[in-house]
Amino acid sequence: MKLTLQLQLLPSADQKAQLLETMERFNEAATFAAKVGFERKVYGQVSIHGLAYHEIRERFGLSAQMAVRAIAKAVECFQRDKSKCPVFKPRGAICYDQRVLSFKGLTTVSMWAMKGRLLIPFVCGAYQKERQGRIKGQADLVYRQGKFYLLCTIDLPEGAPIDPRNTIGVDLGIVNIATDSTGEVFSGEKVETLRKHYARRRAGLNRVGTKSARRRLAKIRKREAHFHRNENHRISKQIVAKAKATDSAIALEELSGIRARVTVKKPQRNRHAGWSFLQLRSFVAYKAQLAGVPVVLVDPRNTSRTCSVCGHCEKGNRRNQAEFCCLQCGHSVNADLNAARNIRAKAVVKRPMVGVVEAKAGLRNCG
Ligand SMILES: [Zn+2]
Repeated sequence: MKLTLQLQLLPSADQKAQLLETMERFNEAATFAAKVGFERKVYGQVSIHGLAYHEIRERFGLSAQMAVRAIAKAVECFQRDKSKCPVFKPRGAICYDQRVLSFKGLTTVSMWAMKGRLLIPFVCGAYQKERQGRIKGQADLVYRQGKFYLLCTIDLPEGAPIDPRNTIGVDLGIVNIATDSTGEVFSGEKVETLRKHYARRRAGLNRVGTKSARRRLAKIRKREAHFHRNENHRISKQIVAKAKATDSAIALEELSGIRARVTVKKPQRNRHAGWSFLQLRSFVAYKAQLAGVPVVLVDPRNTSRTCSVCGHCEKGNRRNQAEFCCLQCGHSVNADLNAARNIRAKAVVKRPMVGVVEAKAGLRNCG
């Protein structure tokens, strides 16, 4: 399974200047290659190469391989859309391959730059160390908020699919981030506290409305997104590990159900950004696939208003966000747990299938 590994580079001030210069020359060259191709109505690597390669090397001072990559950037853009001539941002991502980038030991990367090769250290924790041997082929160099990152493609082996003997239903809820059918709650308490904190600060800064306030606002949003991402990684990891340890498939609602519920009521809409739900769901899906744990997707209709004991379905069963009390049999239970049990029950009668493909398609539809 192909995933992206992000490495943060730690260049010296001089190396940083050289990388920026390289990025700028590269993007100018890519824009030039696009212009040549667009004017002559040729859009392929070979034909643009024939027209622009020598001039690119002379005018922008790129190495042979970097010139090829710059042309490739224009070509990739034409593959999506031939109707416009692209102009690339001076500090847009640039692509390295094995001829211009190599790893030296565990903590240093050697990269081509305008004035010669640079040896640049990068941040390497346990996570990166474990995966570094699996980096394949190309890497994108990106510059964000004053920092350089290498986005490397890695190929991770998928676990042999387990033959599940059990099924765990997982409800992605409003009060709790996730609740499973065994009653385990993956709480959003910390998330909720922090979200309130961020929301207050955002509101304050919104009122101020100055340029520096907007900058700080963007910073806060980024920090918050980062926090949610970490939480989603943590929770999805726990859910998948539990399923694997208990020989279980994981049952989730089909996407339409989650979207409907995230957008139900206005005051709650703010409580969780919809994307955070979708992210958690996609994390569960891909981690499950890596671990060989099947994911079953079930129809979300009525999972929150049906009694998981007697099957009675009525809107009034759901007293409020947190409580479920069956109007027929009197069964009283946490609403998220009731939903998780229903999700599990629906999955048990359905054949397990790995849900990653659907999850990705669904994310796209969601806009
Ligand atoms: Zn009942």
